[in-house]
Formats: sequence, structure tokens, C-alpha cells
Amino acid sequence: MSITRRGFFQLTGAALFSSVMYEFAGQSTALALGPVQGWKLVDVKETSTICCYCSGGCGTIVSVRDGKLVNIEGDPDHPINRGGLCSKGSSQFGVNSVYDDKNGERIINPNRLTMPKVRRAGQSEWEELSWEQAIGEISARIKKTRDENYETEADGVTVNRCEAIAHFGAAALDNEEGYIAQKLARGLGLTYIEHQARI
Ligand code: SF4
Repeated sequence: MSITRRGFFQLTGAALFSSVMYEFAGQSTALALGPVQGWKLVDVKETSTICCYCSGGCGTIVSVRDGKLVNIEGDPDHPINRGGLCSKGSSQFGVNSVYDDKNGERIINPNRLTMPKVRRAGQSEWEELSWEQAIGEISARIKKTRDENYETEADGVTVNRCEAIAHFGAAALDNEEGYIAQKLARGLGLTYIEHQARI
């Protein structure tokens, strides 16, 4: 097929016009043309945040419409990941929502934990606690165990340690959180201090 110079400019001009209209239509439902109204990200509020999974700290953009999560994707302006997310980070949407096996409808993930839980000795069921209760119980146990097991000397050597408690850091702890956790553990005299990322 041959194309004249005039035809070429007409063609590229039409393509450019269509592209500009397409971009404009995506910014607002007021400007949206028919097929564009179904776009996932029309009229959303975008917030930049950090991936919830590991201490890599990849940046994400979370899109919410009418109080409901619509999309999570990598933040192309973030210096750590420049828009990329690993398989875990790409699945963050599933923390909030899943698709119902029965009807394919999107529902709030029923397995999502929003409160601390405890399974008490001898019990088979998990009991829900308030954060205040959980922190109170954990603090009381740490104090009791430390008070009962703290030793200042062993084999004639000053040790100032408590070997009855171990500390295990989560993968989501970043440098600064890890530093604070380490300070707390050392301050309590713990010697068994480990981190998930080393295992
Ligand atoms: S889990 Fe993956 S996406 Fe999330 S911070 Fe770590 S490396 Fe980044």
C-alpha cells in the first residue's frame, strides 16, 4: 500500500488526537467516553506507601475509591524498586480482598487478622484480645520470666543475662526497627537473639 505525504500527516494527526482524548478521558468520569467508564483507576484516591511484607521497603501506590481498595501496584517514582514488586509484593491486594469461590465476587478476606489472638495452654481455640490486653499480658510474662531467671554471675564471671527468653525478629522489621528491637532485647539481658532474615 502506498501512502502520500498528505495522507501520512492525516493519519498521524488522527492517531495523536485519539491518543490525547484517550488520556483526557482517563482523568475524570465527567470526560469519560463510553468504554472508558469501566476503567479501574478512574476517580480513585492514590496514596503512596511501603510494601507490608519484607524489610526491602519497596514503594507502592494504593488506590481507594469510596473507602474500598481498588488497586495496589509498584511506585515507579520510588528509589528502591522503581515500580517493580516481587511475587509477594504483587499479591498484597489479597491481604485485603479475595474472590469468593462460589460466585466470583470480590469480598473482604475472611482470613485477615485484625486483632491479636492467643491460644492458651490446654485450649484448642484461639481467643481474641485487645491490643492493650495483649501488650499487658506479654509484658507481665516477660517481667516474671526475667525476674525468676536473671543471673548476674556464672562460673565466677559477671554475665548479667537472662537465658530463659529468646527474641525472634520478623522479616518486616527494617533497619531502624531492628535496632530498637535489639536494644530492647540486649537491655533485658537476652543472649538468644535471632532474626528471620538470617534463617
Ligand atoms: S516483599 Fe517483595 S515487594 Fe515487598 S518489600 Fe520485600 S522485596 Fe519488595
